[in-house]
Amino acid sequence: MQAGIAYIRKELKDHYPDKEIDGLIRFLFATWKQYSITDLLMKKENKLTGPERRYLECVVKRLKRYEPIQYILGETEFYGLPFHVTPDVLIPRPETEELTDWILESTNIADPVIIDMGTGSGCIAVSLKKHLPLASVTGCDISQAALDVARGNARLNKVEVNFLKLDMTQQPPPGHLPKADLIVSNPPYVTDREKKRMHLNVTEFEPHSALFVPDHDPLKFYKALVAFGKQQLKPGGKQFWEINEAFENECADLLKAHGYIHIGSRRDINGKSRMLSAQVSFQ
Ligand code: GLN
Repeated sequence: MQAGIAYIRKELKDHYPDKEIDGLIRFLFATWKQYSITDLLMKKENKLTGPERRYLECVVKRLKRYEPIQYILGETEFYGLPFHVTPDVLIPRPETEELTDWILESTNIADPVIIDMGTGSGCIAVSLKKHLPLASVTGCDISQAALDVARGNARLNKVEVNFLKLDMTQQPPPGHLPKADLIVSNPPYVTDREKKRMHLNVTEFEPHSALFVPDHDPLKFYKALVAFGKQQLKPGGKQFWEINEAFENECADLLKAHGYIHIGSRRDINGKSRMLSAQVSFQ
């Protein structure tokens, strides 16, 4: 093990900062061998077998190309639950765990009807269903490949979630969708202009259709969500969004302009305005 870890450090030292390498090592051994940090110390004398060494070399080679470790290993964790990920879906982010947390904290209905728009890996939909077992949850996405991953994740976590292929910019919503208490969404919101400042591991590997919006229409998906919500929410139903911190006011104004009330916002752990909620009026 020690030799394996030393090999990873040596090979990656010109590619990643030391702290990030520590994180990669911890994630790799936790996912591959279910080792805790203590296991890593206790089992350091254990020898890797030939096939294990070759696997490690293969992982390191891909890390050197800045491929995200979650795609290399095919899995990650979100809200304490395991999720499969492929390059067809965004790797779930900690800020989206915060959104999930906020939704669970603010929901006082035991059996809400929830629609997750742009479900991707299904991380929000599956986590909500896990914590609200009486809820009826539907995850929608424009990508069939993403829906396949999301379905697998519902199975993996032993929850029943409906999945539906849907382009949220197409109105009106299909008639068979249930009227919802909650619409939640982490839609694409990074502008093309901001792309330049992003790391290679995001821009080269993650699905652009899940991340980026044109500079001239940064609220594209929120506009669709506002209209969708007015059709699909029950009276008093709520929207919960993850947003680009640069467009908090614009998103709130959009909601107000369409008659939404009780607009609430939350900052993420980095202090960035990252989440908005709003209620559709009762008329
Ligand atoms: N928070 C993600 C990032 O910065 C973006 C997620 C999104 O576009 N919905 O990479």
